[in-house]
Amino acid sequence: MLIVATTADLESDRLSALHTLRILDTPPEERFDRLTRIAVAVFDTAISTVTLIDEDRQWHKACLGVDSREDDRAVSFCSVAIEKPRPLIVPDATQDPRFADNRLVTGPPHIRFYAGIPLTTATGFRVGTLCVIDTKPRAFGDEELALLHDLARIAEDELNHKELSAALAAWRESEQRFRAVFHESAIGMTMVDADGRLVEANLAFAAMVDIQPDELRGLPVSAITHPAERDNDDVGQLFAGQIDRLRRERRYVRPDGTWFWGALTASMLRDREGRPDVAIGMIEDITERKEVERLKDELVSVVGHELRTPLTSIRGSLGLLEAGIAGELPQEATDMVAIARQNTERLSRLVDETLDLERLQAGRVELEVRGVTALELLQSTAQVVQHVADDAGVELLWEAPADLQLHVDPDRIVQALVNLVGNAIKFSPPGGSVRTIVKAHGSEVLISVRDEGRGIPLDQLEAVFERFRQVDASDHREKGGTGLGLPITRAIVEQHAGRIWAESEPGAGSTFRITLPLPLAKPPIAVYDRRAPRREALARAARRLGRRVTTFADPDALAEADGFALVLVAGAGIEDLDPGLPVVRVEGEDEDLDAAVAEALR
Ligand code: ADP
Repeated sequence: MLIVATTADLESDRLSALHTLRILDTPPEERFDRLTRIAVAVFDTAISTVTLIDEDRQWHKACLGVDSREDDRAVSFCSVAIEKPRPLIVPDATQDPRFADNRLVTGPPHIRFYAGIPLTTATGFRVGTLCVIDTKPRAFGDEELALLHDLARIAEDELNHKELSAALAAWRESEQRFRAVFHESAIGMTMVDADGRLVEANLAFAAMVDIQPDELRGLPVSAITHPAERDNDDVGQLFAGQIDRLRRERRYVRPDGTWFWGALTASMLRDREGRPDVAIGMIEDITERKEVERLKDELVSVVGHELRTPLTSIRGSLGLLEAGIAGELPQEATDMVAIARQNTERLSRLVDETLDLERLQAGRVELEVRGVTALELLQSTAQVVQHVADDAGVELLWEAPADLQLHVDPDRIVQALVNLVGNAIKFSPPGGSVRTIVKAHGSEVLISVRDEGRGIPLDQLEAVFERFRQVDASDHREKGGTGLGLPITRAIVEQHAGRIWAESEPGAGSTFRITLPLPLAKPPIAVYDRRAPRREALARAARRLGRRVTTFADPDALAEADGFALVLVAGAGIEDLDPGLPVVRVEGEDEDLDAAVAEALR
């Protein structure tokens, strides 16, 4: 009878665990021999062995009462014993169908009784047994079993001894390395437990908060947290597994009441079972950067506001002078006044845009979001830029599906479009055209503004979105820009959770593209028709209007579906429908179909 211990995969892992012990074919050792001696004496049996089960043999590390140190695995009782985590007790092998025809039973040494306890590696694999064997049948009581168990545990410890000490050494080494990194790092480092207490902090952090590392141990983090930030339980969220990683700027207080700004990055260290153990945090002192930021913001807004009013009045006065309110000026003076007025205008624009950008980037601009059609946005944009285009001899083209709805702050999106179309006009040759297209694409609205101008060098496609970045130094002088239009546009788009980027074919024109999320509030539409071409035409028409669509060819599936606003049908088969939703029948081809769908979805 062939005995196979475990399934193939597990078996190969088991074998590699066995080989890691490096015990097979080593000489006898007193630490194992003494166990078999005790077993034979205590249980009064003929044989006792400490046996390991290799790929196709059993090999005895210790054996008493047996001559050969190895035998075929196929006849091994121990090989059967390691199949289960329990002891294997065979009171009489001749009565056991698993062993009755085994040659060790039918021939020498004529095994009758067997009791073996599996030996397990530190990694959990059963690799062998400690067993007692006799040539006459016998019973094995609970007390005897408990004793054999104790001996087996000793054998197991001896077996794993080397592996454990190697693992321990490796662990010590990695722990030492970790400690070195932790303690000697120039960045502040902390470990915090689930109760929000510091388990450990390094010298760098101790110096930042001005508390010795051993005094920090056990201190609740809240005790060194600025009162304004105490309520924030983001470390709790880390432990709860709601977030994987935490990045935050927060203030820490020192015992003398002063505080510093820290940039904290924290993540979870988990134990072997994957349970949260401690949160490990890195803290960088960013007080100086914060101060610079604050000063800059303050400067920008003070300077901005201080400049705005006088600039407005200077511009007004210059305009009046230019218009001849103070009497006719000599030609030279008129020219100078005109230049002064133009420069003042540019300066006020710069001030306005700087303030605008600061507010947008600081997130201080509240969007006034409402439903608006793409056409309305294009019309408002056209009103602002049309005369600029006329002056430049540039043709403006606009395209948008009649009923495409967006959910945005219209003033801000128009501001962004005016920037893009304005730039496109500025960089277009006379006679060129600028095409603005809005369309729905999946769950987004795609807006593109394309010109036929000089284009943008490919290595600057991203750089043009930086402040004061101009492709050509002369752009500022010749085109009169401030270099803030694109950063403002990007800030607006990003505040709408959209993206903006530039594409260009240098020499042949640029295209600026914006994506904005479509209003998700609108429930999806079900489209039903048995004829595939009609069904697809309807679905396409609804998708062009920015709606999410699911198609159905089977009335029963439709009846079971829910979450839809209404069902569009092309006409046929409407009688068998009972979907529990408004059903709208739509007819027509191509543009007529588009119009009919738009009407139905209105
Ligand atoms: P500006 O006020 O100078 O137009 P922007 O931030 O709007 O500032 O644009 C930055 C620079 O990007 C422009 O000065 C120009 O060099 C380049 N740029 C923007 N739009 C275009 C375009 N449509 N074609 C070519 N270059 C462009």
